[in-house]
Amino acid sequence: MTSIEKLKFLNEEQVRSIAETFGTPVFVYSQKEIERRCEEALSFPNAFGLQVRYAMKANPNTNILKIMKQKGILIDASSEYEVSRALASGFPAESIMLTSQQFPKDLKKIIELGVSFNACSLKQLEAYGKLFPGGKVSIRFNPGLGSGHTKKTDVGGVASAFGIWHEKLSEVRSLVKQYNLNVEKVHTHIGSGSDPEVWKAVAKYTLEYAEAFETVKVVSLGGGYKVGRMADEKSTDLQKIGEPVKQQFIDFATQHNRKLILEIEPGTYLIALCGALVTRVDDKVDTGTKGFTFLKLDTGMDANTRPSLYGARHPLVTVTKHPDTERPIEEYVVVGHCCESGDLFTQKEGGEAVTRPMARAEIDDYVVMEAVGAYCSSMSTKNYNSFPETGEVILLSSGETKWIRKPQSLEEIYKNEISVI
Ligand SMILES: *Cc1c(COP(=O)(O)O)cnc(C)c1O
Repeated sequence: MTSIEKLKFLNEEQVRSIAETFGTPVFVYSQKEIERRCEEALSFPNAFGLQVRYAMKANPNTNILKIMKQKGILIDASSEYEVSRALASGFPAESIMLTSQQFPKDLKKIIELGVSFNACSLKQLEAYGKLFPGGKVSIRFNPGLGSGHTKKTDVGGVASAFGIWHEKLSEVRSLVKQYNLNVEKVHTHIGSGSDPEVWKAVAKYTLEYAEAFETVKVVSLGGGYKVGRMADEKSTDLQKIGEPVKQQFIDFATQHNRKLILEIEPGTYLIALCGALVTRVDDKVDTGTKGFTFLKLDTGMDANTRPSLYGARHPLVTVTKHPDTERPIEEYVVVGHCCESGDLFTQKEGGEAVTRPMARAEIDDYVVMEAVGAYCSSMSTKNYNSFPETGEVILLSSGETKWIRKPQSLEEIYKNEISVI
């Protein structure tokens, strides 16, 4: 049974005031919460040093990047475009590592700036070797296991194309030799998980790759630290998964006389719980006594695609338009505003509608969708049905609330269209 969800960092008065000032729908991020998450990540147990990289694809807004930078967080970029955005936000090139599925168009230029490169396939490794013989490189392996919470978020194992398959170590070795490469880092990233046993296994394999290359100084275990968005979901305890990993690094040092620096690359963990989407109930309909009551919000999969993409659940909290006495609990199917059957915020993986208990909501009341800081504004079916991109505001530590992305205008949606008829 799903329990009633609560607001995470806003109070009801703030929700009403934000909705009135900025309109709905609007994303709200909390500077304080982001800073707190950064501090937690920076206290990850480690034996000989720690580097924390923010996987900026989770939410690349320049203000969020700048908060992270002030906290001493480095950058994991997923494309050359993300590299450019991080540079534009003030990150020095040396603090950025590029881990890209697609080989960048101009790797030479990026590397010459000082960005580091994580080779994710044999082709990438060879291309890098040709450009920079004798150069420093990081190598991403697929250790043969994954732990994503759904098949679609698994990024390790035989069904994943991320990283060099672990059985190809000898091919990696010959490329490294051929181009005289200096492998300074080995890297794995296997997907969302909170099980200490899985992290222990990942650390074990990744340390084996470090053993294979004597030049390795940094071992990156990637990201994928699951956070509980819903009250009934567990969050990763960084101290709990980190302690055994720390011990493995100590054992490695004893055996091989090499003190390795640990690197982690959280995206979700740093930002998911730091964002909320303030929406308004646009309509309320039902399908009779044997059917459902539906709340239709003034937002949809064009702002948060995660529910339709992998049945992800986000807390949905009723905030009455005006302060009111406590409302009774009702069961709703909550849907988005797109003309698309998949635009359903309360669904199981596979698409079946399920109900959610919420305080009774009427048309024009607000519904706050929580835990939308990661992979929502950055990963959406933006502009579907020609809905403009949702605006974003930040709640600063000072208590002020400011736009960090204004809502898109209609013209911006079709400005690249070329009329030839
Ligand atoms: C996306 C990504 C991450 C972050 O994953 P989360 O699940 O958001 O923590 C870390 N490393 C790499 C290489 C990634 O692609």
